[in-house]
Amino acid sequence: MFGILSQLLDLLYKKRCYFCKSTKENSKFCSKCFAKIKFLPFSSLEVINGAKVYSATVYKDNIQKMIRGVKYHKQRELTLYQAKIMYGYWQNLEISKQTFVIVPVPVSKKRLKERHYNHMSLVAKEFAKLTGYEINENLIIRVKDTKPQYKLSKAQRAKNLKGAFEAIKENFSGQTDKNFLIFDDILTTGSTISEITKLFHKNGADNLTAFTTSCSDYNLHL
Ligand SMILES: [Zn+2]
Repeated sequence: MFGILSQLLDLLYKKRCYFCKSTKENSKFCSKCFAKIKFLPFSSLEVINGAKVYSATVYKDNIQKMIRGVKYHKQRELTLYQAKIMYGYWQNLEISKQTFVIVPVPVSKKRLKERHYNHMSLVAKEFAKLTGYEINENLIIRVKDTKPQYKLSKAQRAKNLKGAFEAIKENFSGQTDKNFLIFDDILTTGSTISEITKLFHKNGADNLTAFTTSCSDYNLHL
């Protein structure tokens, strides 16, 4: 019944590209718009607390629109494309041959209530299908809601995020020798990655890599 209904709805409402509005491909992210994405060089941008940090692309134009759509405008379907973009970049890296456990950056309970989902955990699920990696969302929780980061200076961001995350100690047992991939949407000053990597080290997990969909202020990281 659901199948027929959704087919009918598809006929009535052809999917429109979220970016160029074309309905030609019946897709939320048409191949024309997708082909315009430019990857960053296939090397790490910086190292934060021993973790190499990679970003797939720059936070602007359609990438910015996609991330904002996923985060604030209930565009859940775009998480598939966000994962595809990350995978498109990731598979060019030598380290992608290793096995990782993906750790999506957690959101607070309050945000979860507002948005009904953690956008990065949805992207991680799609990324896991493409890579075969596991996901672990039981190691780190977000205990503090933070002000929007983009309005703040680097020092303010670090202060804003201090104590925002906590580790669930008991869940680290038997996990510490794994390769963790901290997974986020935007790399700005690296404060989030810095906070989370500290918690991993504290709990004896030292094999850390970070990967973000995009990077704002690309020059900041060179
Ligand atoms: Zn398009």
